[in-house]
Amino acid sequence: MKKILITGAAGFLGSHLCDKFIDEGFKVIGMDNLITGDLKNIEHLFKLDNFEFYHHDVSKFVHVADELDYILHFASPASPIDYLKIPIQTLKVGSLGTHNLLGLAKAKDARLLIASTSEVYGDPLVHPQTEDYYGNVNTIGPRGVYDEAKRFQESMTMAYHRFHGLETRIVRIFNTYGPRMRLNDGRVIPAFIGQALRGEDLTVFGDGSQTRSFCYVDDQVEGIYKLLLSDYAEPVNIGNPYEISILDFAEEIIKLTGTEQKIVFKPLPKDDPMQRQPDITRAKSILGWEPKVNREEGMKLTYDYFKSLSKEELQRSEHKDFSVHNRK
Ligand code: NAD
Ligand code: UDP
Repeated sequence: MKKILITGAAGFLGSHLCDKFIDEGFKVIGMDNLITGDLKNIEHLFKLDNFEFYHHDVSKFVHVADELDYILHFASPASPIDYLKIPIQTLKVGSLGTHNLLGLAKAKDARLLIASTSEVYGDPLVHPQTEDYYGNVNTIGPRGVYDEAKRFQESMTMAYHRFHGLETRIVRIFNTYGPRMRLNDGRVIPAFIGQALRGEDLTVFGDGSQTRSFCYVDDQVEGIYKLLLSDYAEPVNIGNPYEISILDFAEEIIKLTGTEQKIVFKPLPKDDPMQRQPDITRAKSILGWEPKVNREEGMKLTYDYFKSLSKEELQRSEHKDFSVHNRK
């Protein structure tokens, strides 16, 4: 049985990856310090013989007794609200944490895949974004703690690949959504759905002309799985190229949820990227991957999940508007 270590296992993507690798017959070791994750995302796995969990901060030395075949490094705060609240931990997990996992991969002769992000392109001047684009990033802006940690993570990973011959993979993940996102993590999909469910107005930042391209979690997980098992070490964009403006998206959510609330406009957060759309030519040609779930289907599944949460959970998740702390 192949063994895989998944960091960030109690988070949104990490927990879905644990499910995928369990389904594929792997022994999965999950690791998380629960800073933004929740054990309820993986509690269904605790009864399985081929699942183990370590409560550990990967920015500190990482010890695993078992042999390992693969490591997925997904531990990192991922939403602007989270990384503005815990900027130093965000920098540490992308840099020190990645260094620890590279060292572990080298010691175990394991293949390491790191979770990078479309944020390495910053507020892009090239559209759609291909992997060859170097980006337009503000190192000292509020998003710099995340963006630069991820850029450093990529450089460090390529250095281990080139210098030590380590088997590495880099996925550049574009906005991904689905069940198990935290209702109050501030990302636009839980924010809008939470507002609709609580009977609050939907807060569009700026004039809503900025665009995003949303990928359903099952498609993302399939892309990551294929990349891990491929022999390709350069970065690969995984995302859904279907682009929409945030204002049009807010209107879609109003239709989906049937809420009678209206849209209200709030200041645009500093360095909020104006346009984002993955060019997935590389993923198509190298991995034979492309997304299958359209936004209508994916959003319905996601809305069903949020509706199933308890009333208390919903009330606890009141929307946090970080734009006021963070104006241009
Ligand atoms: P998430 O916040 O739901 O999950 C992150 C998990 O990492 C949490 O469970 C958290 O407790 C854990 N974690 C954070 N710091 C840690 C540390 N020092 N030690 C151990 N565990 C730690 O976020 P997510 O959306 O699941 O994102 C997972 C990864 O994917 C991140 O690396 C993120 O940068 C990347 N990513 C996600 C998206 C997206 O759209 N979801 C887009 C781009 C990149
Ligand atoms: N956004 C918004 N209202 C909200 C939350 C987010 O208009 O209540 C906007 C945000 O300014 C950004 C887009 O939605 O332009 C996506 O934001 P998210 O935090 O989900 O991800 P990211 O900016 O990292 O892509």
